[in-house]
Amino acid sequence: MKILIIEDEPKTAAALARSLREEGYSADIAENGIDGLHLALSESYGLIILDVMLPKCDGWSVLRTLKAERANLPVILLTALDAVSDRVKGLDAGADDYLVKPFAFSELLARIRNVLRRAPVQASDLIRVADLEMDRKRHRVSRAGQILDLAPQEYRVLDYMMHHAGEVLTRTHLAEQVWDMNFDGDSNVIDAAIRRLRKKVDDPFEPKLIHTLRGVGYVLEVRH
Ligand code: CA
Repeated sequence: MKILIIEDEPKTAAALARSLREEGYSADIAENGIDGLHLALSESYGLIILDVMLPKCDGWSVLRTLKAERANLPVILLTALDAVSDRVKGLDAGADDYLVKPFAFSELLARIRNVLRRAPVQASDLIRVADLEMDRKRHRVSRAGQILDLAPQEYRVLDYMMHHAGEVLTRTHLAEQVWDMNFDGDSNVIDAAIRRLRKKVDDPFEPKLIHTLRGVGYVLEVRH
């Protein structure tokens, strides 16, 4: 998962980037609004951390343009302005969350997880849940940057689950949607496919993303 930090204070930006990398994210820094916007629109980031007070092009303008161009790209605003009107302004402008400086890094991490859980990033060809990424155009799935080798059926199940992240998917539902078959009470096919998928998607990684609801079905989401 790539995160872009748009922040003009070098110390803050560097500390943030270092901490994010320690958490397993990859982090880039832009020092002003123009560079930030350019990077955000040309690279594939999963999340933007955006300072409001920036040289050249302030955070509000960056946010407006970003949300117009990439409505699904989550943005967390960093603001020194602890005024209700600014929070409202930020959220109205499409920010997914905001933090008032100074903040604890643990709080930022919690916000990041929360924003990513709420909104699986879904561009037309790219969908992400946590560090699991599906690129439909290239028919490619990766987790934590490693390409996963999926059989066609596994790909289809995962595609469906990622596009319905956070929803409980019953076996009946999966059977109809993914296998185009009526559920006859025999869930072996589905359970076996999920088992194979888990081996590739979840076993080598943390946190686990595919969860079983006993007697009901499955859900793909980040849990903490
Ligand atoms: Ca600033």
